[in-house]
Amino acid sequence: MSPSVGIIGAGPGGLALGIFLRKAGFRDFTIFDREDGVGGTWRINTYPGLACDVKSHLYSYSFDLNADWSRLWSAQPEILKYFERCAQRYELGPNLMLRTEIVAARWDGETWRLKTADGEQYAFDVVVSAIGLFTQPVLPDLIVEEPFSGTLMHTARWDHSVDLTGARVAVLGTGSTAAQLVPEVARVAAKVYSVQRSPTWILPKPDREYTRRERWVFRHIPLAKKIYRFRLWLRSESNISVIENGSDKTQEFRDIALKVLESAVPDEALRRRLTPDHPFGCKRLVFATDYLEALTQPHVDVVASPARALRKRSLVTADGTELDVDVVACATGYAAADYLGQIDVVGEDGTTLREEWRDGAYAYLGMAVPGFPNFFMLYGPNTNVGSNSVIFMLEAQAHYIVRALKYMRRRNKSYIVVRPRTMAEFLAKVDAWMAGTVWLTRCSNYFRAANGRVVTQWPRSAGAFWAMTRRFRPADYMFEPQRATVAAVRTTVDR
Ligand SMILES: Cc1cc2nc3c(=O)[nH]c(=O)nc-3n(C[C@H](O)[C@H](O)[C@H](O)COP(=O)(O)OP(=O)(O)OC[C@H]3O[C@@H](n4cnc5c(N)ncnc54)[C@H](O)[C@@H]3O)c2cc1C
Repeated sequence: MSPSVGIIGAGPGGLALGIFLRKAGFRDFTIFDREDGVGGTWRINTYPGLACDVKSHLYSYSFDLNADWSRLWSAQPEILKYFERCAQRYELGPNLMLRTEIVAARWDGETWRLKTADGEQYAFDVVVSAIGLFTQPVLPDLIVEEPFSGTLMHTARWDHSVDLTGARVAVLGTGSTAAQLVPEVARVAAKVYSVQRSPTWILPKPDREYTRRERWVFRHIPLAKKIYRFRLWLRSESNISVIENGSDKTQEFRDIALKVLESAVPDEALRRRLTPDHPFGCKRLVFATDYLEALTQPHVDVVASPARALRKRSLVTADGTELDVDVVACATGYAAADYLGQIDVVGEDGTTLREEWRDGAYAYLGMAVPGFPNFFMLYGPNTNVGSNSVIFMLEAQAHYIVRALKYMRRRNKSYIVVRPRTMAEFLAKVDAWMAGTVWLTRCSNYFRAANGRVVTQWPRSAGAFWAMTRRFRPADYMFEPQRATVAAVRTTVDR
């Protein structure tokens, strides 16, 4: 049988899967997205300064290298155009169903029923969630002491109609988004407050445009692009020990971050406020070009106390300071660990993913969950890579899923579910690999579930993930429904 496939999400992951399915001769697939176009993260987020922190020649598909990247780390509009062009080039248009939000997915014993926010239903043999890791913005818990008369927005929904020229702006947060946004806001605003709960380690991002000569070489010598990309990949892989607590690499990068801070921030008191007290690498690393410099400008204040409340025209921080502001921009991140939190996924015997994952999300190779047949994920639990390109990881996953479907087609199977034992063995490995990582050290990060388990991060190199996914092993799966599967799963993963 050639299964019909419903893909939820038209970001880089969903598009890659669509392209690979098409290449493998699967015609019956639909890619749903609640947005009005493709590109995922790079369509949704449009805040000033948004750019990638992985070099563009690596943050792009291996099968569609782009000679025309304008700079080392491209900005959002260029990345969005790239993914839009890929969707067009590989003729995914007829397979797209945009402005369609999926709110529920239910396995009825033979097919998956997808329900949209408008109440429509679609049936598929196989469903793949490609909704990404950063789709649920988190707003800070602010007490509204008085209705705020200014603008409050999350960076994930930037309101371009708000003119920041001459405005007083508070930017909440210290992650990658804040590091990109603050310099841009500081260029036009009269006053900027960088409101920080805890400062972050900042690594340099020496961005520049590619020269005309470099671009000529990329355009006319196709092998040059491949070699360049491979070198970038190797360099990222060589930094993998940055995820190991106490490694030489961690120390080396920490020293670089301290030097960068020292040279960018001459004022000692400010430098002290910007020196993190958590272990290097525990939070997502931030690469920035001009963030620290922006924080030293006379009209920019670093406020070392988290936001607590809103009043009519001001923001109040935990230490009682009242900041008069027109705009509060929340660069406060996403509920990344809450995988599929916005979709009701119901598998065999009425089991829900939400219930299964009450102690933190897990999935075999980040893609398959026992008790949820014919269901896969892209960018699922424990697949966020620490030192390489997410696109590389997404391609590895999309290839794996297509291999699984090709196996089903070849063997005329209509049912596939990962074995509970395979799942348990994989989880034990992940937990063992995770044990020595920086992510488990003392800090708050978005990688953990409520019980402290790191559920987002892949604790090894991208190459190791590729090696584990390059073959589809039928022995890891069952191709007939089994009774009591779900009960077995619960006992194996209850730890
Ligand atoms: C601001 C920001 C900056 C980032 N910068 C970097 C970076 O510099 N380097 C890096 O490696 N990664 C970065 N990332 C991570 C980035 O998300 C991934 O690199 C990549 O976009 C993941 O692709 P994806 O297709 O898995 O998910 P996404 O790009 O998140 O796409 C998911 C798609 O699913 C859709 N969707 C979600 N829920 C539903 C639903 N219920 N129904 C229908 N459609 C739905 C969304 O609308 C979206 O289009 C960044 C993320 C954010 C938010």
